[in-house]
Amino acid sequence: MTAVGVLALQGSFNEHMAALRRIGVKGVEIRKAEQLQAVDALIIPGGESTTMAKLAHYHNLFPALREFVRTGKPVWGTCAGLIFLANEAIGQKSGGQELIGGLDCIVNRNFFGSQLQSFETELSVPKLAEEEGGPNGFRGVFIRAPAILEVGHDVEILADCPVPLETKKSMSVDNGQEEEIVSRERVIVAVRQGNLLGTAFHPELTSDLRWHSLFLKMKKDSSDRCLQRVPTSGTD
Ligand code: GLN
Repeated sequence: MTAVGVLALQGSFNEHMAALRRIGVKGVEIRKAEQLQAVDALIIPGGESTTMAKLAHYHNLFPALREFVRTGKPVWGTCAGLIFLANEAIGQKSGGQELIGGLDCIVNRNFFGSQLQSFETELSVPKLAEEEGGPNGFRGVFIRAPAILEVGHDVEILADCPVPLETKKSMSVDNGQEEEIVSRERVIVAVRQGNLLGTAFHPELTSDLRWHSLFLKMKKDSSDRCLQRVPTSGTD
């Protein structure tokens, strides 16, 4: 039976554990490096990525997390977890943030604004319907969410979304955003690359479990392309 680890340092790990229970899969809360050896896949939940990085550093988890990504086992980052998995994070207060890396994309950490600008929107995700059945639509819950600004050539874009008017109003070059970013009408919010899945929103906070089910079907990626992309310049 597949055992799925959920990084349980902070954030919405309980909600992912509950979603796994609902689809009959064993979830294992991960707080120590050695616990990763007992799981076949890993979910990195949403929360606050700086805090998560500090805790991961404190518990000396970065080398084991990077190694887990390198082995090709499926890893899914939601929201702060997506930031954690990205090769690069930009935007306000992103400087110096330690990342696991591996997912070939650039994320803007608080692209959609502050907690007050959190929102829900109907996303169109044809791949989800194709692979898991049900409608194309998925209710995306965005909480102080990041957005994906750029992806590498072997990254599959699963969903994008229009930039809400509220976000547009609060974004400005004066706030340190680049003009090219401020002028965007749509941004990428879900991607897949080999064994890695990233969503800027929180599927664990909805009753639609198709993302969890899609993730569980992702096979171990035997290629070593992730190995080449994981940054080696970290502090581990
Ligand atoms: N933007 C947040 C961060 O930087 C993530 C928010 C979330 O996970 N809901 O960590």
